[in-house]
Amino acid sequence: MKTIITLLGLLLSFSSHAKRPNILFIFTDDHGYQAISSYGSNRNKTPNIDRIAAEGMRFENCFVTNAICGPSRAVILTGKHSHLNGFMTNGNRFDGTQQTFPKLLRKKGYQTAIFGKWHLKTDPTGFDNWKVLLGQGPYYNPPMKSEEGTKKIEGYTTDIITDLTLEWLKDGRNKDEPFMLMCQHKAPHRNWQPGPDHLNLYDDVEMPYPETFWDDYKGRTAAASTQAMTVANHLSANDLKLNQPRNLTTSQLAAWNAAYEPKNKAFKEAKLEGKERIKWQYQRYVKDYLRCVTSVDDNIGRLLKYLDESGLAENTIVIYSSDQGWYLGEHGWYDKRWMYEESFRTPLVVRWPGTIKPGSVNNDFVSNLDFAQTFLDIAGVSKIPEPMQGHSLVPIFKGNTPNNWRKSFYYHYYEFPGAHSVRRHYGVRKDDYKLIHFYNLNAWELFDLKKDPNELKSVYSEPNYQDIVKDLKSELGQLRKKYKVPEDTRPVQRGNKKPKNQQNGKKNK
Ligand code: CA
Repeated sequence: MKTIITLLGLLLSFSSHAKRPNILFIFTDDHGYQAISSYGSNRNKTPNIDRIAAEGMRFENCFVTNAICGPSRAVILTGKHSHLNGFMTNGNRFDGTQQTFPKLLRKKGYQTAIFGKWHLKTDPTGFDNWKVLLGQGPYYNPPMKSEEGTKKIEGYTTDIITDLTLEWLKDGRNKDEPFMLMCQHKAPHRNWQPGPDHLNLYDDVEMPYPETFWDDYKGRTAAASTQAMTVANHLSANDLKLNQPRNLTTSQLAAWNAAYEPKNKAFKEAKLEGKERIKWQYQRYVKDYLRCVTSVDDNIGRLLKYLDESGLAENTIVIYSSDQGWYLGEHGWYDKRWMYEESFRTPLVVRWPGTIKPGSVNNDFVSNLDFAQTFLDIAGVSKIPEPMQGHSLVPIFKGNTPNNWRKSFYYHYYEFPGAHSVRRHYGVRKDDYKLIHFYNLNAWELFDLKKDPNELKSVYSEPNYQDIVKDLKSELGQLRKKYKVPEDTRPVQRGNKKPKNQQNGKKNK
């Protein structure tokens, strides 16, 4: 009798394992929602990302906890805020011995693999197979590291990362077990080198300018002070493709020069100045960025096609997201980092046949903090040894947002001094308002998001908003307590005095 029960148990466990869905996580670096047509882009088309959204769910309010590359990845792997996973800035090294969701999935019988950008300094842990770029990685002919060592691969990096992903799907895995596969692109990260297929895309188009392109940063102390990320003044000759790229093969360089030399010649002859020069820089920057996005979208199409042809599509959840949002000229900027909407919000579209209703749009506050627990929930991992700080999105996928789902969101950016000189800040976002504290400047900002969705006017000091300021400060304090933000993660800026406490003498605000 005992043997029969054991056999039955094994059979049941085998059948439930066999049915468990696969997870394909497609991830980019610095892809703002403004550059996705299903999010309403007025500048480009992304038919394959749109297809995931049309056949699944688009999230309108997916926020990141810290809008910068490495830290976002560490949050996703651990399900914990930066101050607990230890990767607070791009200068840190990821502690790969800590609990991560791929390790827990592996224990539960999932095969795990990652191809592409890793960007956490230490080698990946928790993966059956991995092949990753070294640091940022180049757009062409990238050296890639695996357990066998580092080898340069010739070609365009976005295509190569997809090739590696497809090879693993076809021949690299055990087809009897479910998988969690991360396909992580370098694109469209700076310096936006387009692929050989799209070097002349948009040549005859004038890209529209964002409403806030000529922002003067009035009333916003941090934006008006040290930041160095403007399209007007902070793009380099390499960014603008006024120099020839290095490390291209002879044929790649010939194609590059055929595309850029005539454009650069026309630019030099025009001798543009002032606003006309800034507009030229914007056009060059945005077009190159969008060309890189087109390659990403093409390659997502290749993955979706393979899932269809192989019969995997039905039982594979496809997720598309980026490590944070991006400024595509909004506020006159490129780059990310700020808690302002463009970088704080990141794209998230998810397709799960039979579970997510096609064409759904969700407005709940979700986050990269939730991804780990979502994947664990999908895989049936009910016990997580060390608590994580997000929530599974599976109920939301099913159209059943829990009644107690979060209505406010905590953010914290740490990388100052650092690239682009954006000051450290933390803050809280609610449906209608956002409160930000640039703590080393002793500067607060409050935005009325219904009246001022572009966040151009801080109403922090206006008498009518004092009750809201009080409520949001209280909420901020509660969130910091809930997430166990220690006081000593409020770093002291080099050369400045420790900031005075701004809030009624309470220490943890
Ligand atoms: Ca990034």
